[in-house]
Amino acid sequence: MSGNVIFDRDRCKGCELCIAVCPKHIIEMDTATNAKGYHPATVVRMEECTACASCARMCPDSVITVERM
Ligand code: SF4
Ligand code: SF4
Repeated sequence: MSGNVIFDRDRCKGCELCIAVCPKHIIEMDTATNAKGYHPATVVRMEECTACASCARMCPDSVITVERM
């Protein structure tokens, strides 16, 4: 199972909770800022994503959608 992770980029508040729970350690903070002025989370190696959806469950603002591929 692989995944495609979609972030509602401008709603991310950069809390890093999703980074802490990803078992593959593939989420990082983007160097650019979003509309709120935060560095938003992004997946750096999407091909390693297992679509476990831990990141989406953890996000307090429901920023993340995980598609199973
Ligand atoms: S779905 Fe799982 S493996 Fe993929 S980015 Fe989220 S926590 Fe990491
Ligand atoms: S848990 Fe949600 S709000 Fe926090 S950094 Fe991740 S995507 Fe952004």
